[in-house]
Amino acid sequence: MTKRILFLMSDTGGGHRAAANAISEAIHHLYPNQFDIVIEDIWVNDTPWPIRRLPRAYPWLADSGTRWWLLFWQVTARPPIRKGMMNTAYVLARRRILKFLRQTQPDIVVSVHPAMNHLGLRWVRRAGLNVPFYTVVTDMVTVHPTWICPEVTHCMVPTEIAAATAISYGMPREKLTVVGQPVQLKFTQQKGDKATTRRQLGIHPQRPAILIVGGGDGIGRVYDIARALASHVPQVQLLIVAGRNKALKQKLEGVNWELPTHIFGFVDNMPDLMTATDILVTKAGPGTLSEAFISGLPVIISGFVPGQEAGNVDYVLENDAGAFATDPQEIARIVRDWLQPGNPHLQQMTANAAKLARPNASLDIARILAGQPVSQSAFQPVSQ
Ligand code: UDP
Repeated sequence: MTKRILFLMSDTGGGHRAAANAISEAIHHLYPNQFDIVIEDIWVNDTPWPIRRLPRAYPWLADSGTRWWLLFWQVTARPPIRKGMMNTAYVLARRRILKFLRQTQPDIVVSVHPAMNHLGLRWVRRAGLNVPFYTVVTDMVTVHPTWICPEVTHCMVPTEIAAATAISYGMPREKLTVVGQPVQLKFTQQKGDKATTRRQLGIHPQRPAILIVGGGDGIGRVYDIARALASHVPQVQLLIVAGRNKALKQKLEGVNWELPTHIFGFVDNMPDLMTATDILVTKAGPGTLSEAFISGLPVIISGFVPGQEAGNVDYVLENDAGAFATDPQEIARIVRDWLQPGNPHLQQMTANAAKLARPNASLDIARILAGQPVSQSAFQPVSQ
């Protein structure tokens, strides 16, 4: 009999859905026809107005409104405020969510969103579902306390640093496994070579390709960076992903580009784009960075969402896996420098990025959800 797995998430950025999709793909790959999967944006679909409108504010908060976002992030890290907000959301949203949970009748529940752990577990238990509840943390380094609910069945985190933070918030270490960030299997399997992929994508076979991404919502200075590269690094070609940001895509399409340039909206072939690429310019999104590590791509981080992405910048710099620059002219200068023939630092960074890769994350998470052993043991702190 098939078991039903319910993923609780919300589309604040592209990373939570990408993680749920990647784990689902791994489950279907390892256990064909054994699991039925439901991915629910519980915040938008199952809460009343005005709570359901909150995720719509995220692209603005994470881009132009970062001061407000940081304030929200810091304030909700304080236990009394966090508990007050959780209690309010619990009560306001309870009726619809309980109805949804009782209709769905999951056998396993997985949260891939910071707002769905304490709240999610409470709703699930209140709905009378005595089923395993897992957390998959999708923030790489800086973990907000809302992620960590010690009462869950098990918690999976992307890095050792995230595991140490989870322990400091009260997660028992035997409930923790460091798995990495779940990414599509195509990043590690069925990968084509660069020349073939470029041919399939219809992009220039020789020119160095610079991929510019601003997460799922196309945030940050994507346009300015692309323009600076076009003006100062004429030997390259640009692959620009605007994600769900329609205004950005339109603005990019209105330019008469002086070099080969490919503009995309929300793509579902990021593995191919990364295979075809030489250098990635991105905000410090954990999903995109983890995909770049697996693809062995050197990264220029062009910005970060304050709060949850701040630690990712240090992580990349401390491991010498890329550079950080927010000024478009400076980014263009770094790209020019990196593209100097035989640049040994570029090769070193590519190797360092590859060392940070955890290509088995999705498969390991799928195994844990299915109750199978994984290759890694539960988290053991190095220094204790
Ligand atoms: N992504 C995608 N298509 C796009 C843009 C982004 O599939 O057009 C994916 C990207 O590959 C990554 C995720 O969305 O898996 C973005 O996650 P990240 O953590 O980098 O940033 P977020 O959007 O969550 O802020």
